[in-house]
Amino acid sequence: MPEYFEELIKRCYQCGTCTGACPSAKITGTFNPRKIIAYMLLGSTDKMVSDDVIWLCTACHACVERCPELVYPSEVLFQLKNVATSKGKFPVGFKEEAIQIYTTGTTVALSSPIERRRKKLELPEFPAVNVDEIQKIMELTGIDKKLEFNGSNLKKQEEEEKQ
Ligand code: SF4
Ligand code: SF4
Repeated sequence: MPEYFEELIKRCYQCGTCTGACPSAKITGTFNPRKIIAYMLLGSTDKMVSDDVIWLCTACHACVERCPELVYPSEVLFQLKNVATSKGKFPVGFKEEAIQIYTTGTTVALSSPIERRRKKLELPEFPAVNVDEIQKIMELTGIDKKLEFNGSNLKKQEEEEKQ
């Protein structure tokens, strides 16, 4: 864990305001940012990195707005998730979503039922997405390698399917 985060969590005095403001804590009953920081303060950061519970943070940042000590709990959670990802431990859904973004430029593929519903609601046509640009960004940031899929292979496959 970088020193910056070690210093951040040292500000925490375990008031629990973050957990009180956290929608995920309310809904899941198992996710608790205050507790996660407590474990880290007690030297169990590695245990937290490999605990699936960290992925229940939705990054809404309500905790950041409320924390009286500017601990930035959601940033601490991001750091845990980044370390977990670098160790190849991430929810399979993240990889699927990243592949979806890489191949279509959107998180949800446009389907005819979606298009029909958009028309019914008199929504404008879905704007064209510059997929090449998105692919370039994902390749440059190395997100495809981090989430263990090969962007170039996907591109090749797509081109072959088009022929
Ligand atoms: S709100 Fe801030 S100080 Fe309070 S428990 Fe959460 S992180 Fe710690
Ligand atoms: S960012 Fe994460 S930890 Fe913070 S309130 Fe939202 S869900 Fe909870």
